[in-house]
Amino acid sequence: MILGKCPYCGGDVIERKTVVRGKKAKLYTCENARKEYDDSEQFVFTSDSTCTFRIYSNALLRYNKRSIGSNEIKNLLNDGQIKVRLHGRSGSSEYFKYAITDKEYGISILWDEECD
Ligand SMILES: [Zn+2]
Repeated sequence: MILGKCPYCGGDVIERKTVVRGKKAKLYTCENARKEYDDSEQFVFTSDSTCTFRIYSNALLRYNKRSIGSNEIKNLLNDGQIKVRLHGRSGSSEYFKYAITDKEYGISILWDEECD
């Protein structure tokens, strides 16, 4: 399933199933950003990769957002940013922040921007 156009190279962004530390997750990746294990078991971009756009569905887990859905990625690719619902530590209430694509981390939160 194609979710949209890569913000960096214009390639198709697709959804893949993957496993992160033993847990099922989704990987949203540009068709031109492929990774594989090299001879020393390092997970690296393949030599024919021309892009680095990759977002794991659990990328915002540390802010207690369990999963980023494919619809959220679609909106992110369309609009350049999305509003995400985050949660504080246990017991505290939810809050909203804008998130944008980030070349190093895939996705990053705009902490200084207030959401309506
Ligand atoms: Zn790309």
